[in-house]
Amino acid sequence: MRLLEVRNLKKYFPIRQGFLIERVVGFVKAVDDVSFGVDRGKTIGIVGESGCGKTTIGKTILRLHEATDGEIVIDGEDTTFYFMNKKHAIEYLKKNYFSLPAFSNGGKDLESHQLQIYKAFKEAEGNPSRTLKILYGNLDEKRKLLRRKAQIVFQDPMSSINPRMTVGQMLTEPLLFHKIAANMNEAIEIVKNLLVQVGLKAYHIDRYPHQFSGGQRQRIAIARAISVHPELIVLDEPTSALDVSVQAQIVKLLKDLQVELNAGYVFISHNLALVRFISDEMVVMYLGRMVEKGDSEAIFDNPLHPYTRALLAAAPVPDPKKKRNRKELIGGQVPSPINRPKGCFFHPRCKYKMPVCEKEYPPMFKVDNNHYVSCHLYKEHQISDTFEKGGED
Ligand code: SF4
Repeated sequence: MRLLEVRNLKKYFPIRQGFLIERVVGFVKAVDDVSFGVDRGKTIGIVGESGCGKTTIGKTILRLHEATDGEIVIDGEDTTFYFMNKKHAIEYLKKNYFSLPAFSNGGKDLESHQLQIYKAFKEAEGNPSRTLKILYGNLDEKRKLLRRKAQIVFQDPMSSINPRMTVGQMLTEPLLFHKIAANMNEAIEIVKNLLVQVGLKAYHIDRYPHQFSGGQRQRIAIARAISVHPELIVLDEPTSALDVSVQAQIVKLLKDLQVELNAGYVFISHNLALVRFISDEMVVMYLGRMVEKGDSEAIFDNPLHPYTRALLAAAPVPDPKKKRNRKELIGGQVPSPINRPKGCFFHPRCKYKMPVCEKEYPPMFKVDNNHYVSCHLYKEHQISDTFEKGGED
C-alpha cells in the first residue's frame, strides 16, 4: 500500500460574474484528472510552468482546497470527503463507492480504503445518510489525525509563519494540540531539540521571525512541519525564495530528515535540477493535466513529451562542455486556463503536431515499465493494453 494515492483528481474554480446576482459562467480547470502516488521514504516531484496546477495539487492533498472530484487516499484512508458538507459527501460516496459492483456482491477484492466504507455501508444497510454518520462518527479525530499525518512547507516562510509569535510559541502550539508533549515544559524541550535538528540553535526559541534570515526562517517552517511526526510532507517550492547556496543547504536538510522520518515527500518545483536531485518519480504538468510521469531518471534520460523536452532544453546546463538542445526550445505563451485549446493543449506550441493533435486530447500511453506519456506520437509505442484515459476537455 502506497503512502499517498491521488486518483483522477480534479479541482475546478468557478468563474463568477454579476454584482447583485452572481452566476457561474465557467470554470478554471486548475487540476484535471491527475493521478500519482508516493511511498514512504520516497519523493515525487511535480514540475511545470507557473499556473500549471502544481500548487493547487499540493493544497488539495492537504484539504486546504476541497477537491471537485477524484480520490486522495493517505495511508489507506480516503480523505477526500473529510471536509465536505453532508450533501456533497453523500454524492461523493454514491459516485465513487456505492456504485462499485463489489458493494452489491459481498465486497470482494476491495482495497483497504474501500473496505472501511463498505463495512459502514453494510452496517447502515445501504442507507447513504447513515453510512456517512457511521463514517463521520469520529470525524473530528480523523481530521485531526490528517492534520498531523500530512504537513506542508510553503515557498515564502515569511508569509507562512506568524511574525507576531516567537519561535517557541509557534512550535509548542502543535505539540500541545496533538498531545505530542504532555505539558509546556516538555514541549519547550522538544522544540529546542527540533531547532538543533534543523540546524538552528536552541536559544533561538525566544526570537521572532524577523530576527532570522530567509534560509533560517525556512528551517523554522520545516521544524514546524516535522514537529508533529508527519508521514507525508508537501514541499511547495521550498527553496525558490532563497539564495542558491542556502537552497543547497535546505535541500540537504530535507534529504537528511526524510531518512530520519521515513516520510513521503511531494516536491513541487519549477527547478528541474533540484527535482532530479531529490525525486524518485516525477510528474510533468501542463495546463492542469499530466503530460508525462514516471521514474525521474527515465524522464531525465529519455524525455518523451515535446513539452518535457522543451523544459529540459531551457534548463541551465552546469557542464560548460555540454550544449543545450536548442532544437527542442519552444516559443509562445501558455494559453489561458479559462479557454484551453481543443485537442492536445500543447498543440499551438508543438513542433511535432499532427492533424489528430488539434482534434483529440491524447490518452496516457505506457511506453516503459514506469514511464507514461500523453502524446499522440507514442500511440505505437504503447506496451500495455491498459492505458489511463486521457479524457475530453
Ligand atoms: Fe505535440 Fe501532438 Fe504530442 Fe500534443 S499530442 S505534444 S501536439 S505531438
